Amino acid sequence: MAGCIFCKIAKSEAPAHFVYQDSDISIILDIYPVEKGHLLVISNEHYESIHDTPSRIISKVFRAAAALARIYRVYLGAPGVNVVTNSGRAAGQEVFHFHVHVLPRWRGGGWRTLTMRHRLTSEEAEEVVNMIKPYIHIIEEYLAGE
Ligand code: AMP
Ligand code: ZN
Repeated sequence: MAGCIFCKIAKSEAPAHFVYQDSDISIILDIYPVEKGHLLVISNEHYESIHDTPSRIISKVFRAAAALARIYRVYLGAPGVNVVTNSGRAAGQEVFHFHVHVLPRWRGGGWRTLTMRHRLTSEEAEEVVNMIKPYIHIIEEYLAGE
């Protein structure tokens, strides 16, 4: 959709740090992470939010989010992970293009710390991309499964 930042990112018309991309979904770093490793799984096509996204795409986005939760919890030792999608302004949605947040929680604090954010630096982005890189096959396995 014209003017949509996530459409532009999915088409490489706007910059973002990518962890993964296929024909349906992209995984990018949130530019205002709550904690290091805050990722967004987005659909490549434009849908406003979860209520109007086709189930095949919802399934792919959440499978990728589940793989990322596993990568953070099991392989990278995060003591917690939040997996969240906001639908509607009343729920705090700011970008009206379907996406799911995957938030590793290294420090704890749960929901209370969701608004404490910092600006992503290119050093931090490189660190996060390199941290996930050895585990991309787990995302592919989740996406290929039944
Ligand atoms: P929400 O719509 O509330 O689920 O939040 C949208 C998220 O997108 C926020 O966490 C923003 O920090 C993030 N965001 C907004 N613009 C960009 C961008 N250009 N690249 C990466 N993340 C973004
Ligand atoms: Zn869009």
